Amino acid sequence: MIRSVIRRLPQVVWLRAAFTRPFSAAAVPAPNTEPEIHFNKIFINNEWHDAVSKKTFPSINPATGEVICQVAEGDKADVDKAVIAAQEAFKFGSPWRRMNASDRGVLINRLADLIERDRAYLASLETLDNGKPYTMSYAVDLELVVKCLRYYAGWADKTHGKTIPIDGDYFSYTRHEPVGVCGQVIPWNFPLLMQAWKLGPALATGNVVVMKVAEQTPLTALYVASLIKEAGFPPGVVNIIPGYGPTAGAAISSHMDVDKVAFTGSTEVGHIIQKASGTSNLKKVTLELGGKSPNIIFSDADMSTAVEQAHFALFFNQGQCCCAGSRTFVEESIYNEFVERSIERAKSRVVGNPFDPNTEQGPQIDEEQFQKILNYISSGKREGAKLLCGGGVAADRGYFIQPTVFGDVHDNMVIAKEEIFGPVMQIMKFKTIEEVLERANNTKYGLAAAVFTRDIDKANYMSQGLRAGTVWVNCYDVFGAQSPFGGYKASGVGRELGEYSLEEYTEVKTVTIKVPQKNS
Ligand code: NAD
Ligand code: MN
Repeated sequence: MIRSVIRRLPQVVWLRAAFTRPFSAAAVPAPNTEPEIHFNKIFINNEWHDAVSKKTFPSINPATGEVICQVAEGDKADVDKAVIAAQEAFKFGSPWRRMNASDRGVLINRLADLIERDRAYLASLETLDNGKPYTMSYAVDLELVVKCLRYYAGWADKTHGKTIPIDGDYFSYTRHEPVGVCGQVIPWNFPLLMQAWKLGPALATGNVVVMKVAEQTPLTALYVASLIKEAGFPPGVVNIIPGYGPTAGAAISSHMDVDKVAFTGSTEVGHIIQKASGTSNLKKVTLELGGKSPNIIFSDADMSTAVEQAHFALFFNQGQCCCAGSRTFVEESIYNEFVERSIERAKSRVVGNPFDPNTEQGPQIDEEQFQKILNYISSGKREGAKLLCGGGVAADRGYFIQPTVFGDVHDNMVIAKEEIFGPVMQIMKFKTIEEVLERANNTKYGLAAAVFTRDIDKANYMSQGLRAGTVWVNCYDVFGAQSPFGGYKASGVGRELGEYSLEEYTEVKTVTIKVPQKNS
């Protein structure tokens, strides 16, 4: 299935109709299939450092299993160095603290400009390190990264407090101040985009950052670090540490001088981070965690749209999305047709070399995830779900898995309850709207949900009843920097994106001043 030779790519390829989602179908330039690696060290104070321990770890190309390069392995000692640099940059009266808010906006826009300048290189590097199709890296991830940064650049001088009519002869007002040193721990499924979601609001509101990037995908974040320096951010404002979770990540979440931690990843690690805050300095915590999001297809929905969107909802990004529509509920009267057409669509999904413009699905991120997904497929078969297509390995090297569809899935099966994070679709049957609402909400998660129907009453009933941070109606995975994203229940704490995320990066200070009266 994997083409052994990388075909010479045309200068410009157009996104296929299947990809013309809400994202712009802009022309995609040819990728650089062997992007040079310029940065593989720790970024502190706008300088490159080896790890204090001198240790390194390999970053792997998931399409081949081969080592791309060695990367400095940050740990507690490096986090300590970075926190000191960040504190220095945040000192009252420092260049960063004295900078006009509007000039912070200019710097963030300049960073967006530099990312746009190097967009094809960054998209190529993302594909090499992560395995996602280059057309996606370029047209989706990079597009959203640039838009996110520009959106927050605009907020830099537009977030402000209130004047308040307090009783007595006093003038009372609020200031929205930066929280301080923000620890940010990000995952590997959207490396550049998660970096932008975290940096945008933190920098717009004047914070300083110590970011730990995922061990599977450190390379693009380090290149962006070089652009942060080139854009002109003062030293110490952003510090980026590649390394592992239980070492470098834990050093951030338990640090006594880190004022806030923002994390995206597994619910399991979310628990650990929240606990680390509790036993250290009660730093503020925001979490974007896992999900098992319901996607509900009513019989009156447009069938072609529903099939294509349900396919996209699950298989996009190799199934590695926290908000994947991983419980597809289909109304009884259209169940058979929907299942048939979903199998057909999954069978036509093009799996292969992520640099090939026709590829829809690349490899899973690593050996561990690959094995975990194959175990879930075995569990589905064992528990009696009907394996309708796929179910196996898709290539003789790299971490490729066949697009897999299970039908007749029951709510109590493991594959209906746990996050698989791979190209494995679960289809369930339902009879009534009340029944499907209850079943959809019967999960510890609450990240996203979707409803497909042409009946506005059904759409309204469901979008009000679903306990999830995002509800899509007749669409899926529509993201914009303007709209907040985050989870109910075990899917998270707080919100990212939009105006809402500014609250997560600011402290409100009340200043109350005695106003002497003329006659007193
Ligand atoms: P993970 O939660 O372990 O990793 C996410 C980030 O957290 C990485 O940077 C990692 O180094 C760091 N981390 C790990 N342990 C830590 C600790 N003790 N303290 C601080 N930071 C720590 O996720 P994973 O192991 O890569 O994947 C496991 C599962 O997590 C996946 O199968 C998937 O279900 C889920 N996941 C969700 C998302 C998401 O977007 N919500 C992203 C990646 C993985
Ligand atoms: Mn982990």
